[in-house]
Formats: sequence, structure tokens, C-alpha cells
Amino acid sequence: MTTGRGRIATDTVVCAAGPWSRAVGAMAGVDLPVEPLRRQIAVTEPVPDLPPDLPMTIDFASSFYFHTEGPGLLVGMSDPDETPGFATDTHDRWIPRLYEAMERRAPALLDLRRTGGWAGLYEISPDHNALIGEAGSCSRFLYATGFSGHGFLQGPAVGEVVRDLYLGRVPFVDISPLSVDRFAADAARPEVNLV
Ligand SMILES: Cc1cc2nc3c(=O)[nH]c(=O)nc-3n(C[C@H](O)[C@H](O)[C@H](O)COP(=O)(O)OP(=O)(O)OC[C@H]3O[C@@H](n4cnc5c(N)ncnc54)[C@H](O)[C@@H]3O)c2cc1C
Repeated sequence: MTTGRGRIATDTVVCAAGPWSRAVGAMAGVDLPVEPLRRQIAVTEPVPDLPPDLPMTIDFASSFYFHTEGPGLLVGMSDPDETPGFATDTHDRWIPRLYEAMERRAPALLDLRRTGGWAGLYEISPDHNALIGEAGSCSRFLYATGFSGHGFLQGPAVGEVVRDLYLGRVPFVDISPLSVDRFAADAARPEVNLV
């Protein structure tokens, strides 16, 4: 593999490059259709008496969600106006839509002061499900990417699966439906619960 830091000889490559996976796949001639998409969150001032076990709560109708973040709350929502790209600067254009959803679903949250926030990149696949497998077109190119914004929660299980693929073992779950080949075979698995 030729990298920015020189040539590295290896019998196996694992692409876990998130939003950058398409470029890494291209180095090996493997098309990984993953697009970067900015996603922002906001955090609030401390909220007195928050239940310590407050679960992550999602309104699937709008994609508005919140969970505890330190002494306050983290709130997020998808922004349909966002277009693919590597920009991670923050802006407030998504806030009016967020406040509309809050007003409808959890109006008490509107009283909380926003104290910060940040933007990062989702790694979007065409059907919003992960790409996990081994490329057929070249020898020992493994990939685990395209989690479409849900890679943190899937990480522990995906780690075990990738370990098994590397060792040539049968993974503990059938990952064949997550092969990137599903797009060429017209067998995409559209995710229903988009957040
Ligand atoms: C605002 C926001 C909120 C989120 N909330 C959640 C959530 O609540 N739950 C959840 O499960 N997920 C959430 N996610 C999504 C989650 O963060 C991602 O799905 C997850 O980080 C993907 O992990 P990854 O290891 O596949 O990729 P990444 O974490 O993106 O890591 C990819 C790595 O590859 C490296 N890399 C890129 N190119 C190269 C190269 N050429 N050579 C070597 N290294 C390279 C990068 O430097 C990076 O370190 C959220 C994302 C955002 C932006």
C-alpha cells in the first residue's frame, strides 16, 4: 500500500476510514460509496435534577433526540438542507427546525440556554446501513465503514466481526447482507429509522 508516509508492505488492509473511506478504497481499486455529511449537535446549560439514568430519547418522526451530556443535555437533529462535503464549521441555520421539533415533542427544553455545540461528519452509505466485508476484487482488503451516523454504538460488535474476518473465522453474525456488493446486485437495505 502506498501512503502519504511511504510504502507499507502488508498482506491485509482494513479500511475503517469513516467519511474518508471512498478515497482509501480507491487506493486499492475498491469502490466504497460513502459520503461525508456534516452533522451538528447543541449542548445546554446544566439541568437540575436530571435523572441519572435518562436514556437517549429519539423522536423518530423528526429525528430530534437528546441525552445527558455532563450536567446538561445534548440535543441533535438531522438537517435536510445539509449537502455532502467535508465542512465541519458550525452554523445556526438548523436551529429553527430543531426548536420547532422541541416545541412539539419536549417544550420544557426550550427554556434551557444553549451553551455550545459542535459539528462532525456522518459517513453516509446509499441505504444508510453499514458496509462490512471483504472485497472480492483484490486480495485481503477488508472494510467496515458507512455507518451513516451510528458507528459508535455498533463499534464493539463490528470490532469482533473485523477481527474474525482478518483471522479467516466465520463471524458470530451473518454480515453478508452488509457487503458493498449489495448495491451492484440491487439488494440495498434501506434503513427506516434515520437519525
Ligand atoms: C454530531 C454527531 C453525533 C453522533 N452521534 C452518534 C451517536 O449518538 N451514536 C453513534 O453510534 N454514532 C454517532 N455518531 C456517528 C459516529 O461518530 C460515527 O459513526 C463513528 O465515529 C464512525 O467511526 P469510524 O471509526 O468508522 O470512523 P471515524 O471515527 O470517522 O474514524 C475514521 C478514521 O480514519 C482516519 N483516516 C482517514 N483517512 C485515512 C487515511 N488515508 N489513512 C489513515 N487513516 C485515515 C481518520 O483520521 C479517522 O481517525 C455521531 C456523529 C456525529 C458527527
